Amino acid sequence: MAIKAEKTRKNLDVESIRKDFPILQTKVHGKRLIYLDNAATSQKPAQVLKAINEYYTETNSNVHRGAHFLSNKATTLFEEARNTIAAHLNAAPEEIIYTRGTTESINLAAYCYGEAFVKSGDEIVISAMEHHSNIVPWQMICERKNARLKVIPITASGELKMEEYEKLLNAKTKLVAITHISNTLGTINPVEEIIALAHAKGIPALIDGAQAVPHLKIDVKKLDADFYCFSGHKAYGPTGIGILYGKKHWLEQLPPYQGGGEMIKEVTFEKTTYNDPPLRFEAGTPNIEASIALAAAINYINATGLENMAAQEHELLQYATAKLQDIEGLRIIGTAKNKGSVISFVVGGTHPADIGVLLDQQGIAVRTGHHCTQPLMRIFGIPGTVRASFAFYNTLEEVDIFVKALNTALGMLK
Ligand code: PLP
Repeated sequence: MAIKAEKTRKNLDVESIRKDFPILQTKVHGKRLIYLDNAATSQKPAQVLKAINEYYTETNSNVHRGAHFLSNKATTLFEEARNTIAAHLNAAPEEIIYTRGTTESINLAAYCYGEAFVKSGDEIVISAMEHHSNIVPWQMICERKNARLKVIPITASGELKMEEYEKLLNAKTKLVAITHISNTLGTINPVEEIIALAHAKGIPALIDGAQAVPHLKIDVKKLDADFYCFSGHKAYGPTGIGILYGKKHWLEQLPPYQGGGEMIKEVTFEKTTYNDPPLRFEAGTPNIEASIALAAAINYINATGLENMAAQEHELLQYATAKLQDIEGLRIIGTAKNKGSVISFVVGGTHPADIGVLLDQQGIAVRTGHHCTQPLMRIFGIPGTVRASFAFYNTLEEVDIFVKALNTALGMLK
């Protein structure tokens, strides 16, 4: 799935879009904020802030258990939000589990799937470009079950070696877990093909969509993903909410994750019977307002048009890549043909953290460090990178200011 550059900004008035995001007016160290840390978390439009405020001023109550007006209203909004999220992914509502974020979604899937299906000697396949949250939960299940983690290697440009991937799939492989877009390299992985190759051998696949959902149209049916995860806060929604999509037939076979209220049918001291999915996996009071506000974020994305957003982001990526390549000694880490709007780079002997501090002083927010991909940093033989990540509300003028500020910073570090 590629980010297409057609139908560009004719359909997206960035200056008016920016007015939807109050935080973009912030001054940092007396300078206008230029927010280029969107892969870490996105900013929130007023429509999302309004949904949170309205929830607490007009609806606040617990869900699924009250016999009163507000509780029914909260439950209706909470379940309607699930419907909105399901429709956005082309899933059924009972296939949508509310979690705290991608990390919890993957932990839930790893724990429950691992308990049900992984045994001694089995293998789980991940890739060299995974975020720690798509490595560690699988390592934990491998340790518990005496299974083994297999890693798809990557090329120097940061693309998966697909022929090596195919060789890793065998009768012992119990699951493939791959990121859709790398948060460090920006690589958009061919997940449809990855899933099809796994399915050809009867192996299910989980996709980490943390960096994809804010930028690409995701159709879990077309992808044929068995599990798909994302975080609300990277997709213009609030923190503390995420989604695990799971195909109904898988969810029905999985044991619960946590025990408590909501996830039960009946409890006696002798035995408890469990609820059906998705409630089986949603023990305790959920993050109600964040679920509703995530649906508001999805409505915002749909009203703005993912294709328009992606076109703007692609233009920013191309423009910034060309400008950065002109800087002497600058090396872009991650040069895949098919890239999301993320640019990681290092410059000569300078430390990424020093560049980050000097950019911050000029009002520019970037991320520096290993970006929760330490094994990937080791492959490239670097301690970390500077990462600029763009959203559709960024402008070409901001890129110009960023590149100028970077040159100033590099001049100071000489
Ligand atoms: N996976 C990827 C590719 C990410 O970029 C991130 C966050 O940066 C995560 C997983 C974890 O997301 P969260 O911290 O929202 O759970």
